[in-house]
Amino acid sequence: MGKASRDKRDIYYRKAKEEGWRARSAFKLLQIDEEFNIFEGVKRVVDLCAAPGSWSQVVLSRKLYLSAKLAPDAGENDLPLIVAIDLQPMAPIEGVTQVQGDITNARTAEVVIRHFDGCKADLVVCDGAPDVTGLHDMDEFVQSQLILAGLTIVTHVLKEGGKFIAKIFRGKDTSLLYCQLKLFFPIVTFAKPKSSRNSSIEAFAVCENYSPPEGFNPEDLYRLLEKVGSPSGVDDLDCSSGWLEGPNKVYIPFLACGDLSGYDSDRSYPLPRFPDGTYKSLDPIQPPIAPPYKRALELKKASCHGVQDLGKLSLDSS
Ligand code: SAM
Repeated sequence: MGKASRDKRDIYYRKAKEEGWRARSAFKLLQIDEEFNIFEGVKRVVDLCAAPGSWSQVVLSRKLYLSAKLAPDAGENDLPLIVAIDLQPMAPIEGVTQVQGDITNARTAEVVIRHFDGCKADLVVCDGAPDVTGLHDMDEFVQSQLILAGLTIVTHVLKEGGKFIAKIFRGKDTSLLYCQLKLFFPIVTFAKPKSSRNSSIEAFAVCENYSPPEGFNPEDLYRLLEKVGSPSGVDDLDCSSGWLEGPNKVYIPFLACGDLSGYDSDRSYPLPRFPDGTYKSLDPIQPPIAPPYKRALELKKASCHGVQDLGKLSLDSS
């Protein structure tokens, strides 16, 4: 798909470039905030699966860091602490501490926890998504591992009363996930921002008022993470979900959010053209600095330009 064509078919992709966001995902967090007011009183945030960084931009530039920095009587201690983690490296953002690592790895969780050094976070957000295969069961399972990893970090760093926002894939195990989250948060809503396509199974769990069960030991969940991460561990886990039937069946609060009369992410919109009828597509604000598909793009470009020795190119760029 050409850039102009994508601009036409994906209004939030175009708007992100026009408004200076690194990714269209920024609108999802902004629309969740419009409904749930998630930034109120927030000073410390963990942004899990953060690259290329539009959520950190939202959290930071518009909502927290820059406004605190610009306040007339702002001191160093008044500035918010924002820690962002991703598998991919991310171009720097002022005020954001970056950690490169896998959130399903217990060691990465340790690094994040250390950054908070005894202080607790007010908000943890997780927009993590695996490279989807199109096999819904598989994608949903991998996604649920990211949520479990996010929840593990939450139980170590989130203060009581804090909030957790996590991307989910709606599927047959959604009710189980809802019940698991309800063990830790009395209020859990599944939200679908207007900028998230209706055709996508993506939604966001908005979990409020963190209240772990009495006697809960975060180390237990941590051990579960280590178990899932080990080759033999998964066999020991009972992941059956058939017990949510009859009286145990739950009805999940599901809320559409964002201005419902605003842009529809599944529609095409006409492009804003200059008076002479031309249109200029903007470049992305911050392309990924080392994406996993970099070599594939180089190979594609080289083959378009008739480069003969593709084998050499692939070795040179690895
Ligand atoms: N919220 C981001 C933004 O606004 O720019 C977009 C996040 S993108 C949809 C999903 C991210 O999840 C990718 O950057 C990917 O590298 C990251 N991710 C997937 N699995 C991960 C893992 N196990 N640990 C850390 N990051 C992961």
